[in-house]
Amino acid sequence: MERGKVYIETYGCQMNVNDTEVIFSILAKAGYTRTENMDEADIIMANTCSIRDNAEQRIWGRIDQFYGCKRLREGVVTGIVGCMAERLKDKLLESGRVDFVAGPDSYRSLPEMLARIAPGRPQINVELSREETYADIEPVRIDKNGVSAFISIMRGCNNACSYCVVPYTRGAERSRAPETIIREACGLFGRGYKEVTLLGQNVDSYLWHREGGTDVDFADLLEGVASISPQLRVRFSTSHPKDISDKVIFTMAKYPNICRHIHLPVQSGSDTMLVKMRRRYTREWYLGRVAKIREVMPDCAITTDIIAGFCGETLQDHQDTLSIMREVGYDYAYMFQYSERPGTLAARNYPDDVSPEEKTRRLNEIIALQNELSLESNRRDVGKTFTVLVEGPSRRNPADSCGRASNNKMCVFPSVGPESVKAPAPGDYVDVKVMSCTSATLICERV
Ligand code: SF4
Repeated sequence: MERGKVYIETYGCQMNVNDTEVIFSILAKAGYTRTENMDEADIIMANTCSIRDNAEQRIWGRIDQFYGCKRLREGVVTGIVGCMAERLKDKLLESGRVDFVAGPDSYRSLPEMLARIAPGRPQINVELSREETYADIEPVRIDKNGVSAFISIMRGCNNACSYCVVPYTRGAERSRAPETIIREACGLFGRGYKEVTLLGQNVDSYLWHREGGTDVDFADLLEGVASISPQLRVRFSTSHPKDISDKVIFTMAKYPNICRHIHLPVQSGSDTMLVKMRRRYTREWYLGRVAKIREVMPDCAITTDIIAGFCGETLQDHQDTLSIMREVGYDYAYMFQYSERPGTLAARNYPDDVSPEEKTRRLNEIIALQNELSLESNRRDVGKTFTVLVEGPSRRNPADSCGRASNNKMCVFPSVGPESVKAPAPGDYVDVKVMSCTSATLICERV
């Protein structure tokens, strides 16, 4: 029986994108169908992020929009799910504009919650679980081109970095059974997908205990997925500098289809800040991991996350961040100013004492340096040949195609080359030569 149309807006990280795919799968089994048109939806929800304050501020605006639909069409039900739902819980119901609130571990209960909603009887489930991994749920893929898909290999995080809200919104760490991950990757490859990205807050602490058998760690899992087919590219995110092992690095080097890119968040280049952030590695240890990666895979791209203006950050601490960026020569970075998150260790223990103006000034300095480093990194690739996995036509010029090289760099090239008459299709592998570049893109020719 058709129960209604569901519209979901997804915010935040890749984990949330995959969670939305899990939600659509659970609701499809209960008779709901997916729509991308809010104006025809019976169920309207946002899958939310709490990583920074502005991510949540944006959702309050969406809640008003959703409420507008409720007023226009009787019977429309609205809800908030994901990390903001887990962090704020019934505070979201107090607005009187939301009918249900569901945390990241409660999606199996959504059909029941939707069935129980009635005027004046909103529903909430924000139980965190130590077991839930949705391992038996086949996600409904929402990507447009059927080329690349996310697979969550674990949920939660045990690290408790002092600034981070994730352990409170996603709970304790738990890994999925490796068989279920390999089965999902095989299924995707069988359906024509050419790339999977293995997701976890800290993939390096992935660990599956086999009753009476040998444990399966992240390197073993990587090897298992990469062995499915040389035609299946494997990516993963996010690594943790304190846990990334030589075994993972050597396993990557052994399989050409494990992409030459590691996202290794540093957050700060200052040991004083790293201690306050509870990152549990030092600058020297971090640079040692980078050196190992480069020794074993000289062509491996390294990207990172950086926080500017953390509690008590001095000008010298800031200079230490700029200098580690230069020392590593990051290919790309996600850069943000510190946003105090209520309830975190930092919020409870350290004053947010770097002024907003100074945070912005430091962040702009970091961004300017990274743009230089990204351009330098791309310039080093001019003249090289890469195998690109085609994603589709370039947004800027439909006569061009685009796709990523193994080092995760975006390559744009004329669809029809000198020898090739046919434009490549999404999912094709094509070889290109880098002719020029910007700080964000490699401009290529087909070879
Ligand atoms: S590793 Fe740290 S920053 Fe990353 S999700 Fe866990 S607590 Fe947050």
